[in-house]
Amino acid sequence: MTASLNLTPSTIERIRHDLVGLKMPRALEALDHVVRRLEQGDIAALEAIDTLLSEELTLRENSRIKTALRMGRLATIKTLAGFDFSFQPSLDRDRILTLAQFGFIARCEVVHFLGPPGTGKSHLATALGVEAVKAGKSVYFSTLAEIITALARAEREGRLQKRIRFFCRPALLVVDEIGYLPVVPGGGNLFFQLVNARYEKGAMIVTSNRGFAEWGEVFGDPVVTTALLDRLLHHAVVVQIEGSSYRLRQHAELMPEHVRSKAIITPPTLDPAPRRRGRPPKNGHHSATA
Ligand code: ADP
Ligand code: MG
Repeated sequence: MTASLNLTPSTIERIRHDLVGLKMPRALEALDHVVRRLEQGDIAALEAIDTLLSEELTLRENSRIKTALRMGRLATIKTLAGFDFSFQPSLDRDRILTLAQFGFIARCEVVHFLGPPGTGKSHLATALGVEAVKAGKSVYFSTLAEIITALARAEREGRLQKRIRFFCRPALLVVDEIGYLPVVPGGGNLFFQLVNARYEKGAMIVTSNRGFAEWGEVFGDPVVTTALLDRLLHHAVVVQIEGSSYRLRQHAELMPEHVRSKAIITPPTLDPAPRRRGRPPKNGHHSATA
């Protein structure tokens, strides 16, 4: 009944040679151990094949993720598991976990994280980016200031369209920190060109410490801001965080009352849904069409 294993040295040598040719270093490394277990009758032939292939695949997957995270400029220390939802009760955990299933990427939507400094906007944006990479999506993380600097330089050097195409490549573009720094003259226009190029073609996560009503001030140009918000809110999920700063949690008693408890954000005026604490609308969407 037991078929001969036929693990002659020459067969093993040939397998070794083939694994080198096929560039399967991890399978090659595991080969001796697998052969030993096979000879001892610990595993069957199919299991041996399975082990070699899955070891190799895991190695490749890990190195793909590592490279993609580096290229996408994502900090891996910010994870969803490491986010303390109990610290931020205004935030619906299920809603964030639903975002982590990446329907919004498939639908080319824009996720907005709005809230005062230190409430976890960048953390959540990064963590979703990391999870998206693990799920096989391409992601690029940047601040608004970095994007505008890059676009402005590209424009000066006559290669703006190429740079816009670069920022259009990832399935998910994270734009962090809208509102902290005033946008340089012409910057809003450049960013609009990028947003317009990605509109309905790629997903974005944007974070801001300023309510939409204040974006005119941030971008310094009401016409561009209106056009920008028109694209950014058409297919959008707005997540408003109304808590206190995680950075200052140990020093809460030292903070002035107005900083400690009040959100410095004007709620989005385009939000049509009645606010129910902790409960987003069924599909988690705000379609803000003018
Ligand atoms: P924001 O971008 O809203 O200003 P960050 O996301 O940078 O805030 O958060 C500030 C710091 O606090 C980061 O180190 C982040 O990892 C941490 N942090 C914020 N909120 C939480 C939370 N709820 N649980 C765990 N860490 C948090
Ligand atoms: Mg931030």
